Amino acid sequence: MIHAKPHIATMDAYALADMTVGPGKPLVSLAQNESAFAPSPKAIEGARASLQDCPLYPDPDWTDLRAAISATHGVDPEKILCGAGSMELIAALIRTYAGPGDEVLASEYSYAFFRTATLGGGAIYRAAPECDLMVDVDNLLAAVTARTRIVCVANPGNPTGTWLPRAELARLRDALPPDVLLLIDEAYAEFAPADPVWDLTARGDTVVLRTLSKAYGLAGARVGWGLFPPGIASEVRKLLNPNNISGTSQVIATGALMDQAYMQETVRKTAALREQFRDDLRAIGRAVPPSHTNFVLIPFPDAATAGSADAALRAEGVLLRGMGGYGLPHCLRATIGAAESMRLAADVLGQWTESHL
Ligand SMILES: *Cc1c(COP(=O)(O)O)cnc(C)c1O
Repeated sequence: MIHAKPHIATMDAYALADMTVGPGKPLVSLAQNESAFAPSPKAIEGARASLQDCPLYPDPDWTDLRAAISATHGVDPEKILCGAGSMELIAALIRTYAGPGDEVLASEYSYAFFRTATLGGGAIYRAAPECDLMVDVDNLLAAVTARTRIVCVANPGNPTGTWLPRAELARLRDALPPDVLLLIDEAYAEFAPADPVWDLTARGDTVVLRTLSKAYGLAGARVGWGLFPPGIASEVRKLLNPNNISGTSQVIATGALMDQAYMQETVRKTAALREQFRDDLRAIGRAVPPSHTNFVLIPFPDAATAGSADAALRAEGVLLRGMGGYGLPHCLRATIGAAESMRLAADVLGQWTESHL
């Protein structure tokens, strides 16, 4: 008998979206925070030519991609590491700095992968309470112990959609012990007010992560990146697959970054669809909290009611994400998809409201 290590055997599998819908219905997935819009045509243009290079391993230094990131954000290319999605960087970072006996702290309704990566590295996961679905800096600070090695904050948050200004993150950083690493995951930053936190990395104890998966419409290309203090980058890099991002994905991501106007237009259109959807839900008596992302969290009175709404949507082919795994079983999370998908979701919820409440 082959035995997995106990810390792996006791872990749950990562909770992916349940993709089953009613028979004969076209699938409308609003479950994975994927972009409703295709990536920039400039990103796609370079892809075909790059296929010629498939016999070769990709550039392990992500040279063109880092140059494009540097030009876009005004950050030092030497401090950038790129990952096969920011998930690869999160996992490597947590494994580098936390192991058995160490604690990784996040907030109550934080991104579920922080927990997965922590448990996968054999460390202990702790969560501090939120206030009104907002990361609470004082609660995080109160939960720090002598064993805390890393504090993870997704800003904006997933699945809450709420956002903290830079001043609050700086206050957190200043109050944390200097030997505690702060991981700021900005997967949805393009949807939030511009309030850069890059400068926090200069202290040597803070990392900021971004991804091309959301605003740039490249979830399938698997490209994330982060700004790392040099001493941290050299350690984390040891755990990255040295050929982590395919050549084609590097070309696509570079092209997408060089078309900022297209990305900004995607963000603008997504936000307009999101606010229309919130208005439509408000009209049927369902208050949806403000979101700084490409999704909204829809609260119901209780878990059974949320489950009933989820079943009604699924019967019509519309998949939302149940939030039981996030400690919010009375909520569903809806990714902002195409206009007709949002119209369908709002219509189904309207009919369900009439017959159930
Ligand atoms: C979607 C998401 C990611 C991105 O993961 P990728 O691996 O880059 O696709 C990271 N953090 C949060 C909070 C997310 O919601």
